[in-house]
Amino acid sequence: MKDDRRAAAQAVALGSRGLLSVVVPAYNEAEGLPELHRRLSAVLDGVDLDAEILYVNDGSRDATLAVMEDLRRQDGRVGIVDLSRNFGKEIAMTAGLDLAGGDAVVVIDADLQDPPELIPELIRHWRAGHDVVYAKREFREGETWIKRATAHLFYRLIRRVSRVAIPSDTGDFRLLSRRAVDALKQLREQHRFMKGLFSWIGYSQHAVPYRRDPRFAGQTKWNYWKLWNFAIEGITSFTVAPLKLASYLGVIVSVSAFLYIVYMVVSTLLRGNPVPGYPSLMSVVLFIGGVQLICLGVIGEYLGRTFNEVKARPLYLLNRFEPAELDLAGATNAVSPSGDATDDDR
Ligand code: UDP
Ligand code: MG
Repeated sequence: MKDDRRAAAQAVALGSRGLLSVVVPAYNEAEGLPELHRRLSAVLDGVDLDAEILYVNDGSRDATLAVMEDLRRQDGRVGIVDLSRNFGKEIAMTAGLDLAGGDAVVVIDADLQDPPELIPELIRHWRAGHDVVYAKREFREGETWIKRATAHLFYRLIRRVSRVAIPSDTGDFRLLSRRAVDALKQLREQHRFMKGLFSWIGYSQHAVPYRRDPRFAGQTKWNYWKLWNFAIEGITSFTVAPLKLASYLGVIVSVSAFLYIVYMVVSTLLRGNPVPGYPSLMSVVLFIGGVQLICLGVIGEYLGRTFNEVKARPLYLLNRFEPAELDLAGATNAVSPSGDATDDDR
């Protein structure tokens, strides 16, 4: 269904200005959405492209969906993707990308930390021939130095250990060309470290610097535990270096243990056994036990991910999809399919 929709959109786009889709994942963002929509639509009014805005409701518990429906009544460019429950931002974004019909797709946060005013700039670089135009943060206002420092460290680390160059200080705010979106849609892994996936597809990528604002309303859904898990996700889905690390650690510990044994044997032969070696024995046993547990843990991380992939579940389920009522040069009928989202939307 979505392919028909896109084909139609593209056919129309030939004779018209081209279509820009804006994907907005939102979880409990009722407070901030109207302001986002106001700023977003002001920006889109000034852009010489037709536009659709796909709000993805990621199982919000507040009035987010109602607010979206309000916005859709006011503005025909608004489409709503309603997921069956909260799947997390990465998957909400994926759902939006799957259903977006544009020649270019912009992904933007709902909390106004990504300024919509940057979109024309992104479009300019897209028109200059880049497939992925990502916004690179220059400042992180309203964030503690600990968060800044840990983020900095994380990006340095991941760049060192993985073969895919993941740019630092970038969020998910970016513009993707049609072929970049189509490439991304082929990556159906469950553990979606989006920044890594965006980089993995390659093509011509370009950075546009911007200032990251503090949240407009509501609370960030990230806490340190989530960020830690995010970091593990990023590392384990883009490199097997920790697995190698485990073996190196094992080798180092075994070699040292072996040397220590040789030393003990030699010194016992030469000097007898004056003191029973209880403390040294204990420390060696505990140390090796610790190393083994770490290695097991590392293997467990990868095994768990393999387990999740092997189940091959769909990434998300749709509760409802209400496409935008695009009025592309009077070709509305061609591009608005029935609202029911079925299996082939996934
Ligand atoms: N989000 C989502 N599902 C979630 C958590 C967050 O769709 O489970 C959305 C959220 O509504 C926002 C964006 O993802 O539009 C970024 O979330 P947040 O501001 O909490 O993250 P941060 O800006 O701190 O990285
Ligand atoms: Mg935010």
